[in-house]
Amino acid sequence: MIPAVQVIPLLRPRSLQSRAFDYRLPEGAERAPLLGELVTVPFGRRRVRGVVTALGASGEVAFARLAPLHSMSGVVLPPELLAVAGFLSEHYLAPAGASLRAVTPVHLLKEPAAEREISWVEPVLSETGDAPANAASPDGAAQSTESGGREAETKPQRAALTARQKEVFEQLLPEGEPVAELTRRLGTTRAVVAALEEKGYLRRLLRPPREAAGLEPENPSDPPAPLALTEEQSVALARLTEALEEGEAARALLWGVTGSGKTEVYLRLLERVLARDGGAIVLVPEIALTLQTVNRVRERFGDQVAVLHSALPEGRRLKESARVFSGEARIVVGARSAVFAPVRDLRMIIVDEAHDASYKQEEEPRYDARTVAWWRIRQGGGLHLEGSATPRLESLHDSRLVLRLKERPTGQKLPRVEVIDLRSQGGRGVLSPAAGEALREVMRRGEQAIVLLNRRGYASFLRCPACGEVVLCPRCEISLTYFRREAVVRCHHCGHGAEAPELCPACGRAALERGSPGTERLSDELLQIVPRNGLFRLDSDTVTSTGRVQEVLEGFARTRPSLLVGTQMVAKGHDFPGVTLVVVADSDTALYLPDFRAGERTFQLLAQVAGRAGRGKDPGRVLVQTWNPEVGCIRMALDQRGEAFYREESAIRRRLGYPPYAELIRILLSGKDEKQVRAGAAYLFERFAKYLADDELLGPARLPVIRRRSRWHLLLRVEEPERGRHLVERALAQLRGPYLRRGIDVMVDVEPQSFG
Ligand code: ADP
Ligand code: ZN
Repeated sequence: MIPAVQVIPLLRPRSLQSRAFDYRLPEGAERAPLLGELVTVPFGRRRVRGVVTALGASGEVAFARLAPLHSMSGVVLPPELLAVAGFLSEHYLAPAGASLRAVTPVHLLKEPAAEREISWVEPVLSETGDAPANAASPDGAAQSTESGGREAETKPQRAALTARQKEVFEQLLPEGEPVAELTRRLGTTRAVVAALEEKGYLRRLLRPPREAAGLEPENPSDPPAPLALTEEQSVALARLTEALEEGEAARALLWGVTGSGKTEVYLRLLERVLARDGGAIVLVPEIALTLQTVNRVRERFGDQVAVLHSALPEGRRLKESARVFSGEARIVVGARSAVFAPVRDLRMIIVDEAHDASYKQEEEPRYDARTVAWWRIRQGGGLHLEGSATPRLESLHDSRLVLRLKERPTGQKLPRVEVIDLRSQGGRGVLSPAAGEALREVMRRGEQAIVLLNRRGYASFLRCPACGEVVLCPRCEISLTYFRREAVVRCHHCGHGAEAPELCPACGRAALERGSPGTERLSDELLQIVPRNGLFRLDSDTVTSTGRVQEVLEGFARTRPSLLVGTQMVAKGHDFPGVTLVVVADSDTALYLPDFRAGERTFQLLAQVAGRAGRGKDPGRVLVQTWNPEVGCIRMALDQRGEAFYREESAIRRRLGYPPYAELIRILLSGKDEKQVRAGAAYLFERFAKYLADDELLGPARLPVIRRRSRWHLLLRVEEPERGRHLVERALAQLRGPYLRRGIDVMVDVEPQSFG
């Protein structure tokens, strides 16, 4: 038997420890571990989950001094998942441990307790279905001889239970549940569970029982009949079906205006996949904001669908994950990380609302789910399909097949979009008099409206009119956001909060002025237009859980007249037929961000939120307040001329050498010691400068301090991504040793989406 193995611990993303470590087999092990098997190993003072990546030790090692494996799960990660992890490490230069962790299904990560936890338990009812005998009851013994006497001759009588054991037994779920969940739910201990098992009242299962594994059908009635497709939908479906079934891997984009019936096309494609015994993944942005789509897939395909979603209750999440792993569920719907789902015979991955920023993971491994999806499809053939009304330029560029849906099947017209030039408007509020009047009119008619302001809090900063001081976070070089109701200031980068000062903390001479208004201030203003119970606010300060998001959206949908106000969260795929007016309070918020995608993001946000209007009979109206009516992306979003925007944007990107015409790799160094960080950045710059042309290397540039850490970054902009990755890898190997010991963190972000 192989006495030692190498294991990569599945450590938290930021951990630098990502190489393999040697372990020996414990004494008396019945078998050797398998390649790719999930095991539990001691690591430092903890026990962690890991994956066996090689059999035999890494070299000459003193066998006796190796730590022993703690346990083996018996579960081997399929080679396909190991390959995806390999891709993450190679393409995104991610630590191997983080990559393996990302691809491991959650129900298998859920360890090291898992070897214990794998034990689900279910009650064992006695043959007669009677209640268990109770030792605490004085006549318990008599009862059991009387009622169970006959049985006792053929079967041993079960031992009596204590009062506490009996109480637990009576509350066991007939369909079974994991031990950990049971003890938590009933506030009991593992000792009680063990006693019940010993006495034969409870049975351990190695896997969740099948019958209990499904999500309760949300809608037990028959699945809705498929809609008759429009001409545009039929054409798109035919082309996509062809691409799906031709065997080769195909990358396609379904570019359809908001409400054009993209989901119906997805559903038809899913039918095809299932009909040929294949599997598919449907990715959606944050689930809370896309429940309508998720539910439509579940309605249509019932039990064959698993929903992978971090906000599901723990037990359900693990069950869903196990159903995918076992092959029981053939369609997976989920957010970003569902792209790793080990779906059998994967034939298609759909990335819905593919422009959404949530597809990029901002921690190790820093992957873009679109890229991973396409890589997976390329391995085995099939269809990679992105859908959006406002695709990223990259999607347009990368897709071999682009299909358009320009009309809404319901015959609804796209809303009329009008600009309100704030330069010519009087009034002191966030809303111009014209927008206020339009909202009042909608309220008078008993309809609904959405107001978007992509800025949180009451005011974006506080400033002293006497000395000019802006109230900054003590840990970050960032102004603090003011919240009036709570009378606090808060940092959106590190979470620091403090009581809001009345007078300038620097000079003490004057009361502070408030900077640009946010959603809190706008809500106050809107209360003059709509009663409190008709005003719904959606932003990350007031709505902190998935459940709350649903409550707010449902509350808004139910109430007439009503107003929904919030940040970009209100722009996402909701379908509210009663909305006849959308107001964009400040369309310029994203315009001046130091990001080459600022124009695209502004265009997308405007076009998306505009699409929330006119989903009912009334075509609806969109009012966009702006200080910059001449700026291209705003003008073109107003005209809803997608083509014009993309043509212009594409020319700019090509000229400046940005994606999709080049690949970016961002390297961010951070640390407490500004000098060291700067020196590290300068070192990297010099190394890269030897191999790269001037316009392939940007920086090094200083960024604002966050959490007391100085930050510098560099940007590589290369046409051949392989060359860039290679350079970075070699430079970092040299940098990491000496600099990391001095407390410098290096982050590598391939295909970066944010630059702050
Ligand atoms: P998208 O995903 O493109 O925003 P949806 O798929 O949500 O659009 O469709 C918008 C609305 O149009 C939905 O209410 C949907 O039921 C309806 N719809 C879609 N296709 C058809 C069709 N062929 N006939 C009638 N209604 C349709
Ligand atoms: Zn801060």
